[in-house]
Amino acid sequence: MAGPRILVVEDEFSISEPFSRLLAREGFDPVVAPTVSEALDEFTRQRPDLILLDLNLPDGDGRDVAREVRRESEVPIIMLTARGTETDRIVGLEIGADDYVVKPFSSAEVIARIRAVLRRAPAGEEEEAAEDREPLEVRGLRIEPASRKVLLDGEELDLSRKEFDLLAELAYASGDVVTRDELMSRVWDENWFGSTKTLDVHVGWLRKKLDDDAADPRWIETVRGVGFRLADPNA
Ligand code: CA
Repeated sequence: MAGPRILVVEDEFSISEPFSRLLAREGFDPVVAPTVSEALDEFTRQRPDLILLDLNLPDGDGRDVAREVRRESEVPIIMLTARGTETDRIVGLEIGADDYVVKPFSSAEVIARIRAVLRRAPAGEEEEAAEDREPLEVRGLRIEPASRKVLLDGEELDLSRKEFDLLAELAYASGDVVTRDELMSRVWDENWFGSTKTLDVHVGWLRKKLDDDAADPRWIETVRGVGFRLADPNA
């Protein structure tokens, strides 16, 4: 019986060939697509359970693949990015990728990420329970878990799924610090053990959307080495 189908969008044969063999050995069902057009064809034809997506492809940009896929599917996407291209990572996550790994990556790390991302999709019961929470209002900030809406001074904010989850975790902690580990396990995955840089990236976006200043926060305070908290509602 074939395991989860993984679409590997990667034009470098020296990466895709050994990696897809490893995926097969680990019980996955790999499909390789070396171009944007083949990736979109295979996505439609094979309905993968997860997409590993390289950014630089011979006929275009991996982000275009992600955008197209996101029009019709919430399938998990892990971006493969070149080392040191911070903006690539940010844009990758912004367009709806679930995670990224930096090249050159270790196969073991990518397989662990794939397993982690697959475990948390689709939304489990725990997540539904979180959405049963009562709406919360902190100063001008209103969070409505049932509809996953956030309003700031009456204006709806356009938050990604992760940004919403992150903000909700902080808001429902009622001014207590939420540790980095807690945020990683609740918003990303319970067995997370990799880099937590993605957390800082998402906090950065959330601040931007809240028009908040990390140096003088109105909303999200950094508790250095520990985690984050929503600034004291009574302060
Ligand atoms: Ca490439």
